[in-house]
Amino acid sequence: MLPAKRFEWTEPESSPESIMHEWSLYLVVGILGALIGSFLNVCIFRLPRGESIAWPGSHCPSCSHPIGFYDNIPLLSYLWLGGRCRACRATISIRYPLVEATNALGYLIILWYFGPTWTAALYALLFSALVVVTGTDLTHKMIPNVITLPGMVVGLLGAVTVLPVGVINSVIGLTLGGGLLWLLAWLSPYLFGKEGMGGGDIKLLAMIGAFLGWKPALLTIMIASLTGSIIGISLISLRIIKRDDYIPFGPFLVLGALLSLFFAQPLLDWYQGLLDPGY
Ligand SMILES: [Zn+2]
Repeated sequence: MLPAKRFEWTEPESSPESIMHEWSLYLVVGILGALIGSFLNVCIFRLPRGESIAWPGSHCPSCSHPIGFYDNIPLLSYLWLGGRCRACRATISIRYPLVEATNALGYLIILWYFGPTWTAALYALLFSALVVVTGTDLTHKMIPNVITLPGMVVGLLGAVTVLPVGVINSVIGLTLGGGLLWLLAWLSPYLFGKEGMGGGDIKLLAMIGAFLGWKPALLTIMIASLTGSIIGISLISLRIIKRDDYIPFGPFLVLGALLSLFFAQPLLDWYQGLLDPGY
């Protein structure tokens, strides 16, 4: 099921020029997405280690050999190097092309859905932030403040200017999203006898709430709790993890946020219909 597209291209009735123009825009945005994805890999690798993301330049994590620009082309370099470092032949993690492809694909879907608008540009920024926190939470069980705190500010500023969310909704989304998870984290030791959410999850949902508003923030928690429980219980019963093992919650919040971004309205309408069957 695909959501109804929000944006229709309204250039002169699909003349060959306008179709070319539309496709060249998709091409440029796809390449931009892959290039930024390459930078996101640097963030995922270095932010949890407390290293600078600006210096030094890219180098092989195994042998520290500097990576020339010709070996640093998103997706393509991985293919023509056969997934190995040119100098030491160490395997390059599949995570690198995967992050580049994901970011490019995310940008293309956002462009298709929201059109060439400022709203789409801000959602693309949100998408890249979500890619980074998924990467750091899966590899290092942490969600960097340098992503979520500026993210909240960008979300609020976006609400004041171009985002459809509206500023009051954005402020409520930030405080309610962050506040609810904070409460849940505070209650977890009493309810479940163990630590639940981390501070990173709280700030992540606050950022999501600032971008999307309070209803999608609640929807995000519901989707994240549901999918998190299902996956957690499955992994425990399949003996892949133990009952006390830590499962990062960030990726489930990210899943909830993305579903909310595209499906919030149909999902909320459906929920409203459940509450009000006479309608
Ligand atoms: Zn190497």
